[in-house]
Amino acid sequence: QFASMRESTYGNHWNGGSLYNFTGLLGRGAFATVYRIQTKKEGDLYAAKELDKRRFIKNGVLDLKFDSELNIMKNLKHPNIVNYIDCHNYQHWIYILMEFVPYGELAQQLRNRGAIPEADVQQIAKQILHALDYLHRRNITHRDIKPDNILIASLNPLIVKLSDFGLSKCVTDQETFLKTFCGTLLYCAPEVYPDYGNYTQGSGPKRRRGLGEAASKPPPSPYDQSVDMWSFGAVIFHLLCGKPPVTGRGDDRGAQMLNNIMTKEVDFEPLRQEGISEAAVDFIARLLNRNPASRPKEAECLQHPWLRDVPDNCNYDDVEEPLA
Ligand code: ATP
Repeated sequence: QFASMRESTYGNHWNGGSLYNFTGLLGRGAFATVYRIQTKKEGDLYAAKELDKRRFIKNGVLDLKFDSELNIMKNLKHPNIVNYIDCHNYQHWIYILMEFVPYGELAQQLRNRGAIPEADVQQIAKQILHALDYLHRRNITHRDIKPDNILIASLNPLIVKLSDFGLSKCVTDQETFLKTFCGTLLYCAPEVYPDYGNYTQGSGPKRRRGLGEAASKPPPSPYDQSVDMWSFGAVIFHLLCGKPPVTGRGDDRGAQMLNNIMTKEVDFEPLRQEGISEAAVDFIARLLNRNPASRPKEAECLQHPWLRDVPDNCNYDDVEEPLA
């Protein structure tokens, strides 16, 4: 039944060749469809991300960034990062084979159940910090830390994995860019916004752009790994109280969010109203610092009173040191 649905919806795509069977649809994102696949021989499960390569073509050739992102993913091995296994080309499709992560996204948990208990968030925070430390020590910035990109690998003990490395930023069509930009806005550090300078130089915004115009301009560069630390803080805020630190409403949601993040201090009351500890509030406040240079790094976060006595659910003994 699944096979026929797939064929009627997508035509004759890769069918797993002699090695894999497609056994389910895991979900669709803005630029990819992800299937569950199973090895024919051992029955091992994997996830296959299907991308249309035509969307990564710039000036008639496949964007080199795309290849380099795949190479980055291939070389990462960490208990809290989704493991990349292999890659298959089929006509204009590419299939990125990854470790299968069975319990879905943290974003889904937030939608279904609202805030997550503080003890669980402490565990999640610790694991994401380990993953970020691993990436940042290799000079890799994730740039899209959000609950949608944190997958749950195990419920007891709780283990999460960071997914979705920079491929989304290789998409060349504007529509997809805007869609992903809007979702990401909630967790995005202020300095990433295209017109950040207009807000920081002088008393207030000189010009206010709508989201479309702002998003169509590339962000200033270089902006460094501290953008991940802001996003990480924003995600922890959201997990603890069920609301992101910055919001906007109605049709003008994107522009409002943008304005709020540029001009308003983050309000920590929603955390206190949920009975969240002061240690957690202090931890997040340090991360949601407008000055990127003042945001703590991973090692400092792991030593913060909110986390330092939390036991590790994962074994990091085999994690390799980066090459010098
Ligand atoms: P986005 O829309 O955020 O840019 P995308 O288009 O790359 O992302 P994803 O959100 O990564 O698509 O994936 C689509 C769905 O597949 C999501 O619901 C996600 O939970 C699921 N998924 C992705 N990777 C895996 C995996 N390794 N194991 C299990 N499910 C996965």
